[in-house]
This record gives sequence, C-alpha cells and structure tokens, in this order.
Amino acid sequence: MTESSTRTQTTIARRRIAVKGIVQGVGFRPTVYRLAQAHGLAGWVLNDSTGVKIEIEGDVRAIERFIEDLRSNPPPLAQVTGLAVQDIPPQGEVEFVIKPSADVERRTGLISPDVATCSDCLREMFNRRDRRHRYPFINCTNCGPRYTIIRTIPYDRPKTTMARFQMCSKCSREYHDPANRRFHAQPNACAECGPSLTLLNANGSPARTKDPVGEAVLLLHSGKIVAVKGIGGFHLAADAANEGAVRRLRERKRREEKPFAIMSKNLDRVREYAVVSDEEEELLSSWQRPIVLLRKNEKHAVAPSVAPRSKFFGVMLPYSPLHHLLLAEDFLALVMTSGNPSDEPLTADNAEAVERLQGLADAFLVHDREIYVRTDDSVARVQRGARLLMRRARGYVPAPIALRDGGPIVLGVGAELRNTVCIARGAEAFLSQHIGDVKNFHTLRYLEKTVEHMKKILEAEPEAIAHDLHPDYFSTRYAQERAGVKLIGIQHHHAHIASCLAEHQRDEDVIGLAFDGLGYGTDGKVWGGEFLVADTANFRRVGHFKYVRMPGGDAAVEKPPRMALSLLLDAFDGDLKAARIPMLDQFKEADLKLLAQILEGGINTPETSSLGRLFDSVSAMLGVCDRASYEGQPAIELEGVADEACTESYDYVISPNESASQVDMAQAIRRIVRDIRDGVGRAVIAARFHNTIVNLSLDMCLRIREKYGLGTVAFSGGVFQNLLLAERLGGELTRSGFEVLQHYHAPPNDGGLALGQAVIARTRI
Ligand code: ZN
Ligand code: ZN
Ligand code: FE
Repeated sequence: MTESSTRTQTTIARRRIAVKGIVQGVGFRPTVYRLAQAHGLAGWVLNDSTGVKIEIEGDVRAIERFIEDLRSNPPPLAQVTGLAVQDIPPQGEVEFVIKPSADVERRTGLISPDVATCSDCLREMFNRRDRRHRYPFINCTNCGPRYTIIRTIPYDRPKTTMARFQMCSKCSREYHDPANRRFHAQPNACAECGPSLTLLNANGSPARTKDPVGEAVLLLHSGKIVAVKGIGGFHLAADAANEGAVRRLRERKRREEKPFAIMSKNLDRVREYAVVSDEEEELLSSWQRPIVLLRKNEKHAVAPSVAPRSKFFGVMLPYSPLHHLLLAEDFLALVMTSGNPSDEPLTADNAEAVERLQGLADAFLVHDREIYVRTDDSVARVQRGARLLMRRARGYVPAPIALRDGGPIVLGVGAELRNTVCIARGAEAFLSQHIGDVKNFHTLRYLEKTVEHMKKILEAEPEAIAHDLHPDYFSTRYAQERAGVKLIGIQHHHAHIASCLAEHQRDEDVIGLAFDGLGYGTDGKVWGGEFLVADTANFRRVGHFKYVRMPGGDAAVEKPPRMALSLLLDAFDGDLKAARIPMLDQFKEADLKLLAQILEGGINTPETSSLGRLFDSVSAMLGVCDRASYEGQPAIELEGVADEACTESYDYVISPNESASQVDMAQAIRRIVRDIRDGVGRAVIAARFHNTIVNLSLDMCLRIREKYGLGTVAFSGGVFQNLLLAERLGGELTRSGFEVLQHYHAPPNDGGLALGQAVIARTRI
C-alpha cells in the first residue's frame, strides 16, 4: 500500500446516504446541493421511491460535517425519520449534481401535505417590481400545494396536475438553478406560463373583466356570495361583517345554525373579535393553517349569523396567495365555508362546482390548476394546553403518525360519521383526510377513491381490513365486498381507545374513557358511555352508564326531547306528573302517551349507554337546544351556557358489578327537574351536570385503579371535544396521580377511529 503513504492532508472517502421521511417536495435536494457546495464535496442526490438518496465524495472530515449539517439543519418542512450512511469506494468525481428521480419498484417516499404560502413568496407577491406581483399561484420549495395536486409518486412535476403547464424560460431557469429558492419547486409558475384565474357569472358564463380578484372583491363588498376555488376544494365566501350576506348564505346552503368558519388577513384583525392565547396563536400561524376555535370577544363586529348560539368562532389565517389577495382588501373577515351542499363531499372541479353550487353562489372565482385530491380545511382547538384536532385534513394529511412497532399492511375503514380511513404500513399509520358522513353513495364513492389513491401513493396492498361491528354501515359493507382480504371487526369504543394509545406509541393496559354519541356494542346494544380496560389488542368493559331506551332509534338523536323523555320516565318510574318540566309542553298529550307506550313496549327503542345522548337530553330539558341541526349541537350548546365559576354537582349511583359497574344518573335527573322547578338558572344547572360527569368519571377511575392497578387514563370519543369536561376531568385525574393521555394527531371523534381499528387488527393478526 504505497499509495496511502502519499496521502498527507486529506483522506478521500465516499458515502451513500439514504434519507427517509417527508423529504420529497420540501426542498431537500436543493439543501443537499447547497451543503455539498459549501463543504466542497462531489457526488449526486436524487429522489427515489424510498425517499432521498445521496452519494457524497471528498475529504472525510468535510463529509462528516456535511452529514452533521444535514442532520441538524434539514429544510423547514422536512420530517426526517431515518438517515442511513454506508461507506463505499470513491469514484474520483469532482462535481456535485442533482440527478433525475429514479422510478423504481417500491415507492416508500412520503408526500408532503399542502403548505401555506411562505413569507418570502408573500413579500414578492406584494412587491410592485417583482415579476410575480399579485400572481395568485406564487410558490416555492418551502410552500404551495402538494398532496392535493399529486397524482402519483415520486413527486415530480409530470406526476402532478401542474404537468400541463410548460414553464417559461424565466421559471425554468429558477427551477434548474440550485442557488434559487425555487430550485425544483414542482408547482413553480408565473403569470406568463402558469395557472390563471377566471371569474364566472352565477350561470357559469365567463364574466367580462380583466381583474377577476378586483371584481370578486367588489362583489363581496356588495354582499354577494362568491365561490372561490382554493387548494383542496371550493369555499363559499361572503363578507363576515355583513349580516344580510351571511344570512343569505345560510338560507341558500340550508345550514341553519352550524357555525361558519371565517378567515382574516392577520392576527391583529382576529384579535378584534376573538381572544387568542399564545398556544392558539401558534396553531393559527402554523404552516398547516387549521381552522382554530377561539373564544369570542364580548364586543365584536362580526355578523351574528356567523356563529349563532356559540361562544366560539372558527378562525383561520390565509393559506393560499389568492386568500391573501382577497383579504388585503379591507375585510374584517370573510366567511369561508366549504363549498358543498350539506352532507356531501367538497366540490373540487370547475364544471362540477358550477353545477352543484348553482343557486348558492353569485359568482365563481376559478382557476385552471386541477385539484386532484379534494381536502377540507382542518379544524382544531387548544385543550389542556395542547392541540386537539377535531377534523384532520389539509396541512396534516398525508403526514404519517409514527407507531410503536411495524407489522402487516392493514386498512381501517372507520365507522359512519366524520369518517376517515387509515392504512398502517411499517411503523407508520396514514390517516386519510376527512371524508365526511358515509351515509350516502356520494360519500361512499369518495371513501373508495380515497382508499385507492392511498394504496397507490403508499404502494400498499392491505392484507386485512378492519371495520366497525355495525352490520349496516356503508363502511362495513364496503369491507365485506372486498374479496380475498381478511376481515376483522373491531368494537367501536375499543377502536377509540386504541387510537389514542397508538398515537402515544403505547400498547399496555390503560383505563379507557370512551365517551361519544353512538357505537355498536358487543351485546348488540348502543354503547357510548364506556369505561374500558384496554390495550391495542383486547378490551374489557368494566363500567358503563346505565342503559336507557332511545325512542324511535335515530329519531331520538335529531330530537333530543324524546331522549330526555325516556330519561325522565326512567328517573321517575313512569310518573310523568312528577317529572313535569316546561320541556314536556312541546309534546301533545296524545304524543306523550304514545311515546310512553312505545318506551314501555320496547318497539324500535334500542337501549343505549351513550353519554352524548345524556348531554343532549339535559340540553333539551333546560330548553337550550331541542333540535340537533348538526351532529353534537345540543351538547355543544349545553357546554356553551354552563357557568364556569360553578363548582357544585349532583349525586349519582355506581352499582359495582363483577362484569361491569353501572353508573345510574336517575338521582341527578331528579335533582335537575327540581332545580328547573325551583327556578335555578340553566347556566348553573348545566355546570352542575358537567361537574357531575367529572366527579363520577374520577370516582370510576379510582375504583378501576384500585382493582386493576392501572394509573393511566386515555380520553377518546367525541364527547372529549368538550373543553369544560376535558379540562376539569383532566385536572382532577392529574391531581389524583393519574397520567392522562389525550389525542394530538388523530381526532377524538370518529375521525380518529380508523387508526385504532388498523392498530388493533395488526396486533390480532
Ligand atoms: Zn414560498
Ligand atoms: Zn413562468
Ligand atoms: Fe364514536
């Protein structure tokens, strides 16, 4: 080895580096290129289907510094989950290049979610002298659409809906210049070569205007409703300070009371009508830009019809260049509600929008960049100091949720309401965007399409499908129609708790509080107020709320006074006279008798232990809400009226039982009736009811800890979107020495169920 002795200063080495995670479409290759330049190294970088591959050659110490820099300073949007380094023989290369993507067999590279417009791009867009001044599709390697425009992987322009736009020479130069911040920004475009806006009249004919944004702003200022094509679908926009406009939107959309989301230009504007904590500010300004629930200011200038009967506004900051352009024009806020008839998936296609939103919008602000994957806005709130997602979609999907262990590829298809699907692959779970209530063929087709797309981009063929136990759900039937795949039925509330465990990478037994609306139980009854001892394989139901009958089944969900009647009859042993409260006046005497008979006879009156229904009933008894015009409305409004200063509560009875203890609320119901008759305010009664649920839950947890020696409690189910309950119960449990797990990555409602299903199914296989 005479050669080595001639090496004095430098030792030349070559390393092969494989980077995994969200590393495509986030400016990873340009970063690698710049780092290689900075350290005087040669080699190449490319995207392949497993992530990013690098070969780097040069002085061994420079290589080490390069790897160090890459580890500590990846591009802001990258999420590196693995970085493997291998020593290989040097090849004498002197240059560093970015190679074209390799289209190989297994495509395990991850796609980035859509990213809100970055500050560099905004600066350019509002700069008169910039060539992209006011260009509504400006983007760079750090921002812009991703998931919604990608047809397949690897992420390269020809595989996106940008394929049809040929870059002009200026854009092309940026795209190919490693020093440029648009180097390999796949959706790169300008007014000369990229997508453009068009304004359409109500009937879909092109409007005669050279300034579609300016014209749309004028329409909005005059109280008109404009359908705006965004990143993941259409919004219906209206001036949020104009009561007439907002009310018109409600009438046209046939959405009576569910609050509308609003969007403001910046945080200063938001503070004019809502309270923003530090955590909320961070969530609002995060690049995911979810809708965040914020407490209303006492005085504000937002139209009353935006969020009637609610303490909260759903607020988001602009996330596309077009939003920034619209909001620059002096609106306090714009209503930005999803452009779809209620209960149907989001509209994403121009022609489809004109057809489906006919009569809803006065004009359409559209563009010619196709939305390949429709994705709703995400919805979040801050609870117990942490983010709680209530709808997980744009900005979060398709980022993986890291699991504790690897395992077979499994698909979870969710249940029915607020559905999502989930593919578990390796040690990661991919929860889909919000699909909606899978109660009709529109949404079922959307579910099918979502599954197919996820299978394609993940190159994952599930060997098992996990579904809900309810035999009549569309999602269950969807699973049963797939031939040749193992089917695994998972109990609804077990899936809720497993979902919470999975995202915390836990798999040991915990106390699971599964509080929600409705879920099919293993005894064929309707569960929803469940105390479980569960891990990610099995569960044991150790307690539940006492069964009460649901007169007319689902009808009792829409009409909470019916459910309340059932509880009253139960609490007063069928004596309606003793149970007399004003709520009963809304029934005709004959109807009351009939309902009482139905309840007695047990025809079409399934038994339920649902805590959600209990909240609904109390809401109806207090006259807070007697019709659910959207899911959870009575409970949300009950929370809204509760006096937060009140710490009193009612009594309850827990009957211990070897198989499952029962929580009986009859005493509390009788006390509520007495309070109503005594003229106690509903704010106090609502608070006492909340506090009762807190107390009995704590009581149950203490008993379960005593018996099973478990000190961790997992919160799941839609009821845990209730801030008052979650904060108080969380506080009490912590003070009693429990560890409390609440959802962070997945929603606590049925939108997180598919994750739990997939994880349980894997454990069982
Ligand atoms: Zn940017
Ligand atoms: Zn261009
Ligand atoms: Fe549920």
